[in-house]
Amino acid sequence: MSRIIAIICAFVWAFSAPVQAQELSGLARIDGATSGFSEGWRGEVTLRLDLSQGVPWRVFQLEDPKRLVLDFREVDWRGFTADALGQAEGIGAVRFGQFRPGWSRMVIGLEAALGVKTAALAVDETSGAAQLEVVLTPVSGADYAAQAGAPRDPRWDLPEPALPPVSTRQERPDWAPVVVVIDPGHGGIDPGAERGEVNEKTLMLTFGRELRDTLRRTGAFEVVMTRDEDVFVSLERRVSIAHEAGADIFISLHADALSQGHATGATVYTLSEEASDKASEILAERHDRADILAGIDLSKADDEVANVLLDLARLETQPRTDLFAGLLARQIRETTGSLNKKPLRHAGFSVLKAADVPSVLLEVGFLSSKADLERLTDPNWRALMAGAIRDALQLWVEEDEEMRGLLRQ
Ligand SMILES: [Zn+2]
Repeated sequence: MSRIIAIICAFVWAFSAPVQAQELSGLARIDGATSGFSEGWRGEVTLRLDLSQGVPWRVFQLEDPKRLVLDFREVDWRGFTADALGQAEGIGAVRFGQFRPGWSRMVIGLEAALGVKTAALAVDETSGAAQLEVVLTPVSGADYAAQAGAPRDPRWDLPEPALPPVSTRQERPDWAPVVVVIDPGHGGIDPGAERGEVNEKTLMLTFGRELRDTLRRTGAFEVVMTRDEDVFVSLERRVSIAHEAGADIFISLHADALSQGHATGATVYTLSEEASDKASEILAERHDRADILAGIDLSKADDEVANVLLDLARLETQPRTDLFAGLLARQIRETTGSLNKKPLRHAGFSVLKAADVPSVLLEVGFLSSKADLERLTDPNWRALMAGAIRDALQLWVEEDEEMRGLLRQ
């Protein structure tokens, strides 16, 4: 696989001059009418993508689950649907979207071990239009595994989003604002839950911004968002944004759909090795899987030394997290009346693993519940919810300082 990538990259960068010139005319678009999958001899599958202009791109494959990843220097996806590509033997779901600002990604699920046989982009000299063709051929499981892996090529190291200046609680004077990191769930290629026209990533970005404004109006909080646009942010990156911002508290916002148990009402999740129930476990797994589908696999990130350090940090963080989770549930009940029957739960959400920052994941409601869906799409109700979170934060800051004062004596 590394050999194929090297060839592809050399090919792509040879195009860099005309590509830059073409960027002036706007983003590349994919023509859904002429693009698609086709089946060939001996189980081969060809993917053809007709682009309005040539763009730097790369292809690689990943395991668990098997999928083909195509990255592009940015493509405008408006008007394009996965259905336009049709279907072929061994090809599963296709997802696409903005991956980071300026970068797009298409992820093609593979139901069989299909390896990249050839991949090439041809640009028409007259029109500037480009045709990307990837030919996949059946390979053994062992050959697939040998080829799979995200390439490390410095030319593709994507720019990190700009970060706010670092500040930590210790360095700030007593009156300094409390730093709240708001984490709107999902984004970009990962839409989260969907119900009709409504999707979780957009709804949580809207609510995240409303909550940010509500908190800022008090003058007591400095707010940092893990994303402020429709872009994919890895779970690991969300946690590191909290660290780099010197977060006092981290709040992840979600509105998932649960098929089991008619879940309804706000639910506050805190981190635990053991999930408090089956539904919590499924929810945590599903969120981690979205990251894997987007091409980032953190399953090997744990090591024993790190775990010991994390446990030590949690000893102090856990009571502070529990205090906030309890206050949050209480304020939501008092303000909105819309609280889950079992409002405090635990699960192993990766996004809550900022061990030294108290962190909660708030399911503001469930898109799978008709009543919740109505509330979540009502700006007045969301304003009540943002007020409840603000009040809980203000109470938490007071009680937390008292508690920490007691600990230090
Ligand atoms: Zn979610």
